[in-house]
Amino acid sequence: TGQSETGFAGAAAEGVGFSYGDGPILQGVSLTVPQNEIVGIVGRSGSGKSTLLKLFMRFWQTQSGRITLSGRDVDQINTANLRALEGFVAQETHLFHDSIRNNLRIAKRDATDEEIAAACKKASIHDFILSLPQGYDTPVGELGDTLSGGERQRLGLARAFLHDAPLILLDEPTSNLDSLNEAVILRSLREEGRGKTVVLVSHRESTMRVADRIYSVENGRVS
Ligand code: ATP
Ligand code: MG
Repeated sequence: TGQSETGFAGAAAEGVGFSYGDGPILQGVSLTVPQNEIVGIVGRSGSGKSTLLKLFMRFWQTQSGRITLSGRDVDQINTANLRALEGFVAQETHLFHDSIRNNLRIAKRDATDEEIAAACKKASIHDFILSLPQGYDTPVGELGDTLSGGERQRLGLARAFLHDAPLILLDEPTSNLDSLNEAVILRSLREEGRGKTVVLVSHRESTMRVADRIYSVENGRVS
């Protein structure tokens, strides 16, 4: 298979096993994430979907088998390179007590205002930010609990779009969104998908429609 412009040639799990200590969470998990495809992962709550994404991120180490990016074992890739290759939107978006702009810049330190706005438009959060009296300078701390789950989620997605890594791992990115915002996100993903590879965990059927292929996690196995 050829490489994309980014030099990224897809990802894979090969016979991956993992346990947090008690029973096994994942056993003999193999899946292929071809470049420029959107791969969906479904499964019941607690089945190990987030764990699998974290193994791709090397937040945890696989205990058997391996995870590869462009054919290279993630254990052989230094952390800086790994972070450049992978963008991750966690199930919960963590925001720092700082301005919205600086919270987004975490994804790309030298991002211009134009790049930040473009990422926020893709994530369907730009108009909301502009509606705030201080716009992108609004301190997130001040918003406190008034920032909704969906707004936080869209800021997390904006970070991923800004980070612009060839592989994007999304853990329930639309769980708190209404269908209008969801539609914008899915359109962005589809557009991104032409040059990007996406792994998408979701319970929502409407979100899964964007996936080129879908894997199901059940009893530690993936099929
Ligand atoms: P959900 O759909 O609810 O997000 P999930 O499929 O993402 O679920 P995981 O978060 O991967 O599930 O968790 C899989 C299993 O591992 C669960 O039984 C969970 O309780 C357990 N687990 C998750 N994280 C840890 C941890 N850090 N330490 C110990 N057990 C954990
Ligand atoms: Mg999860």
